[in-house]
Amino acid sequence: MARQPVFENALRNQWDRKWIVTAEHYSEFSYDPSTKVGAVFVKDDIPLVQGYNGFARGVIDSGGLIVDRKEKILRTVHAEINCICNAAANGIRIQGCKVYLYGMLMCSQCAGAVLQTKPTHITVVLPDGKRVAKWVDSFIVSCEMYQQARVEYDIYRQHWSESAGSYWYESVTNPEDLLDYEEAEYVDGEGRDRLFLIRQLLSQTRRFQKGLQGPFVSCGLPEGTF
Ligand SMILES: [Zn+2]
Repeated sequence: MARQPVFENALRNQWDRKWIVTAEHYSEFSYDPSTKVGAVFVKDDIPLVQGYNGFARGVIDSGGLIVDRKEKILRTVHAEINCICNAAANGIRIQGCKVYLYGMLMCSQCAGAVLQTKPTHITVVLPDGKRVAKWVDSFIVSCEMYQQARVEYDIYRQHWSESAGSYWYESVTNPEDLLDYEEAEYVDGEGRDRLFLIRQLLSQTRRFQKGLQGPFVSCGLPEGTF
């Protein structure tokens, strides 16, 4: 089945592409050998703050902690959190930004933090072949939170086109597109329920009506999440 590239028919999409390339550029700063993630917060087409995944300033990778998944996860500050921390540390107001993330799905902890900055849109791009199964449960919660908070989001796969000599971006609307490389884990039992849920989250309510009133909560949940 022919897959339609995105970013080819609108000026707005050219800007999206620029910021995704910017996030990808910052992802290359990460010294994590397996998962390089970059993020950029943009307002009125101006990048306000950037970040990538890694240990906090001054934290030492003694003895190859970065290549030990368990140790790495305990210490890593995610790219989106680094953006928010960098903004806070430097007095940069990031309320109402478009948020671009390249390299991995946004986990639910980061999604909660990002929602607190009242983003106007979230774009996530996965490199071709990037395995995401270990983060899918967190990703499902992230998508639910975007929807409850009425924040639009788009998920893309990046592909290399030999003929064009450039990357193109495919909108992910089916869980099979997300889980191409590990779908075997998801075809039975619990996995089938997850696939069904992801399909709903990606295709049915990816776009939703603005202006609906949701209950407001405090108690640590992001504004608009209920
Ligand atoms: Zn995260």
